[in-house]
Amino acid sequence: MLVVQKFGGTSVGTVDRIREVARRCIATQQQGHDVVVIVSAMSGETNRLLALARQVNDDPSSEHERELDVIASTGEQVSVGLVSLAIAKEGGRAQSFTGGQCRIITDSSFTRARIKSIDGQKIHEALGLGKIAVVAGFQGIDEEGNITTLGRGGSDTSGVAIAAALKADACEIYTDVDGVYTADPNVCPSARKIARISYEEMLELASLGAKVLQIRSVEFGMKYGVKIHVRSSFNMNEGTWVVPEEKQMEDVLVAGVTVAKDEAKVTLLGVPDKPGIAAKIFRPLSEANIVVDMIIQNISDAGRTDLTFTVPRGDLKRAVELIKRTLPEMAEAGIKTDDSICKVSVVGVGMRSHAGVAQKMFELLAEEGINILMISTSEIKISVVVEAKYAELAVRVLHDGFGLGNQPAK
Ligand code: ADP
Ligand code: ASP
Ligand code: MG
Repeated sequence: MLVVQKFGGTSVGTVDRIREVARRCIATQQQGHDVVVIVSAMSGETNRLLALARQVNDDPSSEHERELDVIASTGEQVSVGLVSLAIAKEGGRAQSFTGGQCRIITDSSFTRARIKSIDGQKIHEALGLGKIAVVAGFQGIDEEGNITTLGRGGSDTSGVAIAAALKADACEIYTDVDGVYTADPNVCPSARKIARISYEEMLELASLGAKVLQIRSVEFGMKYGVKIHVRSSFNMNEGTWVVPEEKQMEDVLVAGVTVAKDEAKVTLLGVPDKPGIAAKIFRPLSEANIVVDMIIQNISDAGRTDLTFTVPRGDLKRAVELIKRTLPEMAEAGIKTDDSICKVSVVGVGMRSHAGVAQKMFELLAEEGINILMISTSEIKISVVVEAKYAELAVRVLHDGFGLGNQPAK
């Protein structure tokens, strides 16, 4: 078997942890498998590197993103070297690779690049020599050879994409919790580990704040049918398998509850209520790669209306500046912003066949006096925006209110 094992930041956070990783990889190899290891930077390292960069130059404009990637990618480069040395120290054989060295080719969207292709040849050569291949997560190179990174949490995507490219039998994602839970176990004490979850549900959970897997890793998994096993690097417990949807999954109304805290709300007051206005407002934002999520337009009064939408908090300043600059006439009565909000969501494929989930969600929040600022729904999720101070309370209330704390996890 060919096994890909990805270890996150906490799992390689100290020298002792790195030794543990080395032992686990060797043990897997000794069971007769080919082993490819993907590693993240040591925990806190990417934040430290990016903070250092900001100290030198805090201009957030996109022309500096190439250099940010040169800096941030070094965290993973250190990790692959250390893990390879640790494997050697434990009596194994290993070879480290940067993204560029095993030709992980991406587009040129620095800080959020997408993988286009992976050339498995160098990795196969190392495996053929009986070595463990240790590959840096989070990074690649573009066609010109520039170093790129895949967005925060991107080592998950490196792991699953490499597993897909090598046609690995499984991709194990080792992290600091026992698997994917019904809510973040660090926020919701009654959260339970889910044994099997569908790609669709995992995609929603990942995009709505459950950072245990980066969303693009789930997309890769789904597209190429990679079996993903999320589990703890601190014990040998069986974790969570991310798999194609199974019949009985629809019996469960809500699979999980998430919160996304990095959101902000923008309201344009007194927008002309005419055809083409929304297109005009959102064009400069999409051209600047700013992802607009929920949008609400009020009923118009005297030909003018208010328009509210959410953007990632980190893009708030840029979004407001862009609107002011490109559409000075747009918000006649001004622009209001609020960055102390969060988005709480319930997710489950069971919602397709069961009614009343939204109603119950609103009632549970109302009972706690939590005011809902915005609502959006799709086939398998309902999201609400509430004040940031209610983030944890809302998660717990919904989690327990939908009975996730006291029913056997599916
Ligand atoms: P790694 O460094 O291993 O990539 P991350 O910090 O990126 O780990 O992701 C693991 C964290 O994801 C957990 O510590 C947990 O707090 C958080 N998390 C959020 N939602 C969930 C969930 N539904 N199930 C499991 N973990 C979750
Ligand atoms: N080190 C990167 C980050 O902190 C990538 C990862 O850990 O997945 O975002
Ligand atoms: Mg992560």
